[in-house]
Amino acid sequence: MLDYVSDKVQDEARQGEAFAPFTQDQNSYKKRFYIESYGCAMNFADSEVVAAILYKEGFGATKNVDEADLIFINTCSIREKAEQTVRKRLSDFKKTKAQKPGMLVGVLGCMAERLKTKFLEEEKLVDIVVGPDAYRTLPALVTEAEGGQKAVNVLLSREETYADISPVRLDSNGVSAFVSIMRGCNNMCSFCVVPFTRGRERSREAESIVNECRNLFEQGYREVTLLGQNVDSYYYAADNQPTVTFAMLLEKVALISPLLRVRFSTSHPKDITDDVLHTMVKYENICNNIHLPVQSGSSRILQLMNRTYTREWYKAKVDRIREFMPNCGISSDIITGFCTETEEDHAETLSIMEYSKYDYSYMFFYSERPGTLAERRYDDDIPLEVKKRRLQEVVDLQGRLSHESNKKELGKTFTVLIDGDSKKDETEWKGRNSQNKVVVFPKGDHNLKKGDYVDVEVLDCTQATLLGKIV
Ligand code: SAM
Ligand code: SF4
Repeated sequence: MLDYVSDKVQDEARQGEAFAPFTQDQNSYKKRFYIESYGCAMNFADSEVVAAILYKEGFGATKNVDEADLIFINTCSIREKAEQTVRKRLSDFKKTKAQKPGMLVGVLGCMAERLKTKFLEEEKLVDIVVGPDAYRTLPALVTEAEGGQKAVNVLLSREETYADISPVRLDSNGVSAFVSIMRGCNNMCSFCVVPFTRGRERSREAESIVNECRNLFEQGYREVTLLGQNVDSYYYAADNQPTVTFAMLLEKVALISPLLRVRFSTSHPKDITDDVLHTMVKYENICNNIHLPVQSGSSRILQLMNRTYTREWYKAKVDRIREFMPNCGISSDIITGFCTETEEDHAETLSIMEYSKYDYSYMFFYSERPGTLAERRYDDDIPLEVKKRRLQEVVDLQGRLSHESNKKELGKTFTVLIDGDSKKDETEWKGRNSQNKVVVFPKGDHNLKKGDYVDVEVLDCTQATLLGKIV
């Protein structure tokens, strides 16, 4: 079923990724846990916090589900399809659990928060249900479940940011890491379940963020992505200390080292300020890329979505970004077939995509979520085949825009941060430029490694990749 399309294959490919930094670890552990993650980058970052909490309590990770004593699945509720995927995965675990008496299965994250104890009624094999703000209690919940009780903690918090926990990194490339700077969301976009599953917005203490980024840099990481549902509303005010805004936080992280690239996601179009754009211009290591989800190009639909901006406001934001940074990459999230969407509304979405010239987009058809404002207020009245046809038109247009955007780069030279071998050919490197475009080029006889910067001239391109040579 086509409900989610991204030309950044990387993210889609991470769905269900199993996490195990200790696979080579010879230490002995009292128990082994297996954790699989779904959904947004925030959830993947949370799995790293969960791993840190469990590791501290003497649990070691494994990538092999059959040798696990504990299976955790970190879930996503954003669309119905995401929940179905988790249900299916749970049914796969039934066999594993039947073969290993005493094995416990825990559900973490947004779906745990949304369904709470209902999960235990609906999925008999689940022993533990933990919401996104209750991970510190996980070791105690495991003990409770070992005693034969079903263990649940889905309390949301107004304070929890896990600021003091050093996440145990997913050992994917050792070059880029996600750093959570805030949790929850206070925006009430009518289609979205996040405010209900992740609670009120709260910002993490600035110094703990800067320290985490500095530690990453010292360990060899060369890129951090500051994460939040709405990073531009980051605001940290501690007693007797000056308030830190997002622009100030960006600057603090950028100052760690010119060799540390800084990215951030997501920017709500209503909140991104000139201060942030000024800071991006001031520091070369803050990448020229802004993820600015539009959702729809129609002001009428945007109002129903409660996005609090209009088509004109959004276009003015794009103009402003280009004024500050003519070469800034801009990407988006788009939903087709929201309640009452007409062909005219849809045409406006296509035209705002053309206007904004997105480099890439995450594209979805509308999926009604229980408990959201839209579910309570509006009819989900667009037939599935119409939602899908419009999504396909959006996807096709994005394909053309991505290709056109890449073709404009032919002949230019970019500084690329190498993050690994090219997937297709080990004699080639893969990396990204500041605009977040993937660049692939032959290794040649240069003595380079992952985490190095190199200048690459673009000679050719596909829709998703720039192809070049070292200069
Ligand atoms: N906080 C971010 C923002 O405001 O752009 C995004 C959060 S959400 C995890 C990621 C994307 O999922 C949204 O931007 C939206 O396009 C999509 N999404 C959220 N709820 C949806 C729904 N009910 N149906 C389809 N897509 C949805
Ligand atoms: Fe959901 Fe809107 Fe918050 Fe993003 S800003 S998480 S879309 S409610």
